[in-house]
Parts: sequence; C-alpha cells; structure tokens
Amino acid sequence: MKMCSSVVAYSFRNFPPLIHRSLPLFCLQRRHLLPSPATVHSRTFSSSCRILNPFYFTGNLLFRRMERYWAGSSVNKNKGMVEHLQRYGIIQSKKVAEVMETVDRALFVPDGSPAYEDSPMQIGFNATISAPHMHATCLQLLENNLQPGMHALDVGSGTGYLTACFALMVGPQGRAIGVEHIPELVAMSLKNVEKSAAAPLLKDGSLALHVGDGREGWPEFAPYDAIHVGAAAPEIPKPLIEQLKPGGRLVIPVGNVFQELKVVDKNEDGSVTVRTETSVRYVPLTSREAQLRGY
Ligand code: SAH
Repeated sequence: MKMCSSVVAYSFRNFPPLIHRSLPLFCLQRRHLLPSPATVHSRTFSSSCRILNPFYFTGNLLFRRMERYWAGSSVNKNKGMVEHLQRYGIIQSKKVAEVMETVDRALFVPDGSPAYEDSPMQIGFNATISAPHMHATCLQLLENNLQPGMHALDVGSGTGYLTACFALMVGPQGRAIGVEHIPELVAMSLKNVEKSAAAPLLKDGSLALHVGDGREGWPEFAPYDAIHVGAAAPEIPKPLIEQLKPGGRLVIPVGNVFQELKVVDKNEDGSVTVRTETSVRYVPLTSREAQLRGY
C-alpha cells in the first residue's frame, strides 16, 4: 500500500483495570490527555512490546482454504501479534484469533510501517488504520453478530482491514459492506483486500467497499446484524440505528475530545440499549471536506 500525504494519528484505548495491571511497565506509554487528534493514544503497547518470538504455522480448520494467501515469513509475526493480544485478554475467542491470524495486517498498512506493532498508523488523508487492540476489541464485541450468513456494515472502512475480517466471519452466504468517503482510500482498500485471504469474497460479491457518506449507512443491504463505525461521531447517526436489525449490534465511538466506545443493541421490540465499553480516541466521523482540510 502506498503512503499518502498528510496524516493524523488517532485511537487510544484505556485498558480495563485487569489488563492494565497485567501489562509490564515498560509496555505502558503514558501520554497526556489529548488536545488534538495529532496526539497518539495513551496507555498502549509500545514498540518495546513488539512480537519477537516466532510461532510455528499450524493453520486452522476454519480458514484452511485461505492459507495460501498468507504472506511468507510475516505469517509468524502476524500470529505472534494475535497471541500477544490473547495473552493480554483482548482477544478472548478462538474465532477472533483465527480471523486476525488469517488476515495479514501487513497487507493493509503503508509500505515500511511496523505492521505488527500495537498502535494506529497513518494511511493518508488525515486518516489512520486503528491499532490491533482496537480491531480486536471491536471484533470481540461484534462476534455474535458476525455469524455465517449475517450482514455487517463497516463505516469508515479506511484500509479495509476490518471489513475483510467481517467478510471472513460472515462467509460467502453473508454480506460485509465497507463505506468510506475518501475515494482514494476505497481504491487502496480494494487493492489491499485483493492481496488478502478475503480476496475470493470480494470476487464473489459478498464483500464490497463503496465510496459514500457512512453517516447515511448503506441501505441496500440493511438491516444489518452488525455495524461498526471506525470514526468518532458527535452523536449516534439515526440512519445507522434504523439500519440495525432487531437483535443487531452497533459499535461506535462517540464524542469530540473525550470519546467513548458505545455498544448499541437493538432489542426485538425496536428499542435500543446503549452502554459504554471504554474511552477511546478516533478521528472524527465528518464530511469529506472537513477531513481533507484537517477538521
Ligand atoms: N477501520 C478503519 C479506520 C480508518 S480511520 C481502519 O482501521 O482502517 C476512520 C475512517 O473513517 C477514515 O478512513 C475516514 O476517511 C473515514 N470517515 C470519516 N468520516 C466518514 C464519513 N462521514 N463517511 C465515510 N467515511 C468516513
């Protein structure tokens, strides 16, 4: 993936107390409260936590067909990153571990970036790819709504990484739709996915990446079992709630300077229950113009 021009880093997560306590001190990077999106995450793994130990490739039953897409030696490092997230309790299920092992993160980050480091990375156009622990957190929160045959929407799909994960989880009978408002990022994400284990799903149409304003959702394949938003909204956009299936779940960062990751569950009677998962730092869900001029 080619690196684009101006960039802003974003996305931090306050680890829950248990994880926070269990992190070695040298792994914690305490940054001050964040005055602007240019300041990177607080309390995250630093480069000193980079995965060093190689893990033998054993494959897994679920995605055995896809193994040929894995990229040589980076397979071991990607697997090491996943094991690291498992060790710290961020990945809790086999399914999430399998999908993150299957989608090689190196295919989605700019050339020369430390792909397996647990931090967000600049991808151009004032956007970033979220840190692996945020991807893992969102996959965990949405796992039950990403069963084979289900419909998933990824708003602010950026590099396409999470849309690819969703597609592998819902499979060829399901739908994974990414919506991103920067056309160049959509073009880039298509190239990334084409190199990845999710390529066959792009080809058969169960995975699609569209240019559009994600605040409007993507009505064509609604209602959705799972909706993920990769950028922080001032408030939860109504169309996204409307496009959620009863029993469906929306995961969305909400706020401006202080942001919280909200989990929105639509009940069978159409009412919604909202809870806060954690504090986060994402770039804004905004208009294309505002994003390109730096918000
Ligand atoms: N999940 C992505 C996150 C990318 S950053 C990844 O990890 O790769 C957030 C993305 O949201 C950016 O690519 C940005 O361009 C996009 N975005 C912001 N506002 C948007 C909007 N209104 N509609 C669609 N995409 C939007």
